[in-house]
Amino acid sequence: MDDLVYRGIIIRQTNYGEAHRMLWIFTETDGIIKAVRYGIRGKKTSNAAAFQLFCYGDFKLRPSRGEIMTAVSADIIDGFYPISEDIVKLSLMTYLADITYAVLGEANPDRCILSLFLNTVYALANRDEPYLKLKAVYELKLMCAGGFMPDLGVCAVCGGEPVYFSPGKGAAVCREHLAAGDMRLSDGALALMRHIISVPDKRMLAFRVKDDSIYIELSEICEKYVSVQADREFPSLDYFKSML
Ligand SMILES: [Zn+2]
Repeated sequence: MDDLVYRGIIIRQTNYGEAHRMLWIFTETDGIIKAVRYGIRGKKTSNAAAFQLFCYGDFKLRPSRGEIMTAVSADIIDGFYPISEDIVKLSLMTYLADITYAVLGEANPDRCILSLFLNTVYALANRDEPYLKLKAVYELKLMCAGGFMPDLGVCAVCGGEPVYFSPGKGAAVCREHLAAGDMRLSDGALALMRHIISVPDKRMLAFRVKDDSIYIELSEICEKYVSVQADREFPSLDYFKSML
């Protein structure tokens, strides 16, 4: 079978056997796919830098019947090296890759989510944005793109004033319809969430707030929403938080 070229970004890697590495590449055409890079560890291999986490480029993969594809070579467009050189950035991006995998699964192409992911990697590598802003915006945009856009109009039960967010309902609720696990939603956080949901993806980070402390509240709400909807915890989130 001929080699195939996939444009994408490496979003996860694990050791595989004695000297090999399993890669998960988030590709434009096929979504998240797996490939094995043989002999990548231990000895010097050509092109090794191209197969690092969060490298974006064109990956040449060799199909083999019924087996996982083999990664042959790569032409890197952007290595986003400021991320791999900074443990906090790396831990944040690892968490964002984990929630992306949880929402999308394998072999499920989604150019919208890939574009959100690439915007976020780019901003984290090249721009001076608060970590919690990048995190919350990506979490919320990912949920919207994945079919979980929260309803933030009025209380989802009675139409009253929305002052709590219910991660289970994916909606704002009033004081009267508060349930276990719901979270206080300040006016500022509500306005910001509405803005992030409605703003075009390309301009998703092009806003400023008066006080960065709003990102703490926003980040807690968005991570809880992801966790409840995905029905799992993310150890990489705890690791990221331990770095702050
Ligand atoms: Zn209500």
